[in-house]
Amino acid sequence: MKVDCPQCHKSIEWDSSNPYRPFCSKRCQLIDLGEWTSESHAIPLKDEQSEILLDPESVEEMLSQMPDDFFKE
Ligand SMILES: [Zn+2]
Repeated sequence: MKVDCPQCHKSIEWDSSNPYRPFCSKRCQLIDLGEWTSESHAIPLKDEQSEILLDPESVEEMLSQMPDDFFKE
């Protein structure tokens, strides 16, 4: 089975002995990992985290752990 490396689009043989699949090489895998941690991928991750923080159940749980006098002026 042939696949295209997602990084350099080189056609490679899908081989379970290739630890870098679906990439053709360690180099392409590292490039992709580098892009993953770059801005383009970090922003959606941040949005996901803020969604979790704004989840009603999480907020409720957080509020229940606040000291009783937290809401007093
Ligand atoms: Zn490649």
